[in-house]
Amino acid sequence: MATKTLNDLFHDGLRDIYYAERKILKALPKMARGAQSEQLKAAFEQHKEETEGQVERLQKVFEIIGKAARGKTCPAIDGIVEEGEEILDEFKESPALDAGLVGAAQAVEHYEIARYGTLKRWAQELGMNDAVRLLDETLKEEMKTDENLTKLADAGANRKAKAA
Ligand code: FE
Ligand code: FE
Ligand code: FE
Repeated sequence: MATKTLNDLFHDGLRDIYYAERKILKALPKMARGAQSEQLKAAFEQHKEETEGQVERLQKVFEIIGKAARGKTCPAIDGIVEEGEEILDEFKESPALDAGLVGAAQAVEHYEIARYGTLKRWAQELGMNDAVRLLDETLKEEMKTDENLTKLADAGANRKAKAA
């Protein structure tokens, strides 16, 4: 077996998150349609726009390492998105739906934060400053999205879920 190095890990991780982002891009409109509150709908729609930019940033990172932008199936994001679809289905028309959707979306953001955090460290180690900058921009967007979701939960979704 060929010796694999940090460069190979970086490429592999990039393919994983590229697959994940495109999966998320397809899931977010469903989450937006399902959400009951206008604020949560708007949050999902806004993050879909951001996600389009994140996909483009990843394409730039692939360019930096001279590789084709190609995803690799990420079973983790497939599972996390599937759990979100279960919430949509099982809590449909219930007062707990939005709280459940916030939780499902935070699982997605936390997966992304884990991946981008690691990829950024590896890019630093590899001395790829432009890649570090691109990955960091997205990492910050994911962290901000996670914080916004917490705010929406605190601002009403959790209380509404409890009330009934
Ligand atoms: Fe993302
Ligand atoms: Fe993965
Ligand atoms: Fe995200």
